[in-house]
Amino acid sequence: MIFISHILAGIFGLKLLSMFSVSVEFNQFTILIAAVASLLPDVGVLIHDMKHHHGPSHSPLVWLIISVMAIVLNFQIGLVLFVAITLHLITDWFTARLSGLPLLWPFSKTKYSVYRTADDDKGNYDLRKKLKKADRKRLLESYYENKILLGFEFLIACLGLLSILTLIV
Ligand SMILES: [Zn+2]
Repeated sequence: MIFISHILAGIFGLKLLSMFSVSVEFNQFTILIAAVASLLPDVGVLIHDMKHHHGPSHSPLVWLIISVMAIVLNFQIGLVLFVAITLHLITDWFTARLSGLPLLWPFSKTKYSVYRTADDDKGNYDLRKKLKKADRKRLLESYYENKILLGFEFLIACLGLLSILTLIV
């Protein structure tokens, strides 16, 4: 999933949370928290290429511990953090093309995904380096190849945008 889709998924999750929990408000502050939190698992992309960035930063246990600690410190922020990160992991588990998620880390390094992940390095680029135009094109082509995953990501992004609109209108 691309970064903007993760952000919009987190905002959509916040909207749902605010509808079902009186403790969580849907406002500019919580939207900012949700947006930042929804990107936290992808810090691995600063260290590894795309295929290998799903390490411990995509481990549910790691984030569960961090979220519980955050909930103890501040219930609203902790809950927003938990929902945004959980949505990141669920959507990555569903849309991962190159690498699954280490759902059982640290007990197992096996990576899981709904779709079988690619065996080759097609679409695997190091985002820390500036991509050449041809590489950028190949990356996008490999990304858009699976129309089901693309449709799912588009749907999530639309739900996030609609959630933001409810704040404006
Ligand atoms: Zn991710």
